[in-house]
Amino acid sequence: SMSSTATPADKRAAADAVRGGVPTPSPHYAAAGLDVWTMMNQVAASVDAVNLGQGFMGFAPKSFITRAAQEALDESSHHQYAPPRGRPALLAQVAARFSRLLGRDISPASEVSVHAGANEALLSAFTAFLEHGKGQEVILIEPAFDQYTPNVIMAGGRPVYVPLRVCTSKDPAKEVISSSDWKLDSAELEAAISSNTRILVLNTPHNPVGKVFARGELEEIAAIAKRHNLLVVADEVYEHLTYGVEHVSIATLPGMWERTITVGSAGKLFGVTGWRVGWAVGPAALIGPTLAAHTRIVFTSNTPLQEGIAKALSLA
Ligand code: PMP
Repeated sequence: SMSSTATPADKRAAADAVRGGVPTPSPHYAAAGLDVWTMMNQVAASVDAVNLGQGFMGFAPKSFITRAAQEALDESSHHQYAPPRGRPALLAQVAARFSRLLGRDISPASEVSVHAGANEALLSAFTAFLEHGKGQEVILIEPAFDQYTPNVIMAGGRPVYVPLRVCTSKDPAKEVISSSDWKLDSAELEAAISSNTRILVLNTPHNPVGKVFARGELEEIAAIAKRHNLLVVADEVYEHLTYGVEHVSIATLPGMWERTITVGSAGKLFGVTGWRVGWAVGPAALIGPTLAAHTRIVFTSNTPLQEGIAKALSLA
């Protein structure tokens, strides 16, 4: 047994001994910590079910997309490190696209960064704006995409959860509940904010509920973000999955561009999630630090598929 005078090194050695001399991992990554996707894919495979969980298509991406990647691979200059911010051709396409979507002139040189999927854009943003050991908090709206919680913790933050609640007079046994029946209570949101709160993660269109936040709801969230000087990390990877409802980027609301990092995904846009290309868009003061974190996490995203996505965007 370990005496109370045991040093951290003693404790570590004891833990390693229990593991038969094998080095002890961080508890965050130990043992059976399967992610929900791997878990559900295994369950679906074991019972031979149709698996709608991870959005795997039963068909190929559009041929103009795969052709763009093949052409990019055939180019001899597309096989070495990209600049950390991203390949110029892709930065230009993303800037043009978001200039249109956000209704402002976006600079490819300072207001866009390319990432290894939206996942890594999110981790980079959290890493850039959170400090370890300071008790800094991040508001997550539940239910939430599974990656937020561990990524916030990795970056030194503490997740604070605010629920979406089903608010409807419909009888769920008899009537279909709509994703828009899930509401965020703005008083409940504001009550969860403390002097330690740094970031609000807003996912619209929302995974898993499918809710597309209405303009009025976003205006209430924006007012709270401004009142408490929060960074909003706007995960809009499903920007086109709106089924007739208007998608509003919170970055377009008054006073919100300055405090919003909008995250997107080429994987979601073109049905090529395995390519691992995504981006972050926002003012230079927010994208600069996000890019600095990205540079230390993965350095750059892969070159040929950035070129492929740039070409596909130019044709889309
Ligand atoms: N955000 C949400 C809400 C998602 O559902 C996903 C993918 N499931 C991502 C981000 C990550 O996207 P990417 O594949 O570009 O990393």
